[in-house]
Amino acid sequence: MRYEIEYRDHDLAQGGRRIELVGSPRSLVWPNICPNCGQPASERVRVRKIFRRSQGTRAAGRGWVWGYVIRSAEIPLCRECAERHRREETRPSTVRVLGHFLLNPLMIPVVGGAVFARVALEAGARSVGVRPPWWISVGLPGLLTFASAWSLLLAWRSTRFIRIPTRTQIVRACDFSDNLGNLLVGERHVYAIRNATFADAFLAANAARVFTAERRARAERTQLIAGTLLLGTLLVVGLLVYLGVL
Ligand SMILES: [Zn+2]
Repeated sequence: MRYEIEYRDHDLAQGGRRIELVGSPRSLVWPNICPNCGQPASERVRVRKIFRRSQGTRAAGRGWVWGYVIRSAEIPLCRECAERHRREETRPSTVRVLGHFLLNPLMIPVVGGAVFARVALEAGARSVGVRPPWWISVGLPGLLTFASAWSLLLAWRSTRFIRIPTRTQIVRACDFSDNLGNLLVGERHVYAIRNATFADAFLAANAARVFTAERRARAERTQLIAGTLLLGTLLVVGLLVYLGVL
């Protein structure tokens, strides 16, 4: 099993209705309808997706390395669909998760830090005659332990996409995109919805959040103004540097 990495709204589920709404999935009103079958929903199921962000560097022999972000949404489902989703969902095996974790290059500072912390602690305890100051005998092993623990945390975080289960066809009935906005114009996502009853209710419940043509024009204007201001500032600073004022 391979994990799926999507990009913006390019890989959304085909067909159905597309709705673009302002705000995070968490901030929206979710109708109590199952988007897979249209029956009343009985629970919410957390769905996580991996999105590719910036293009990373080309690592030797490993192809492209991408920056990525994990986004989640709580999708309403009826009992039957939720149970089927849980049955069909394939979670990565513990062996695979542990394998990725233990073979991570960050395990080198994890093990190295722990070993050297122990060596430093023992050397401090064994020393006779001139005793090292406390900040060396305690500080050095402490610092090494911290470095080891920090690397362990980073290793766990850097392999978190491995632990995300693949999405079933059931939860794909309400698919969502990455954040298509930014800090300047605010967050927004596109939703691809299979069931018409759910789509109508979802749209009605979040009517005030629809990303209309008017909102799009305003966002584009804001981007343009910000871009112009940034360019203007850079030009002025460049000119001042050139003239020797700065
Ligand atoms: Zn259902």
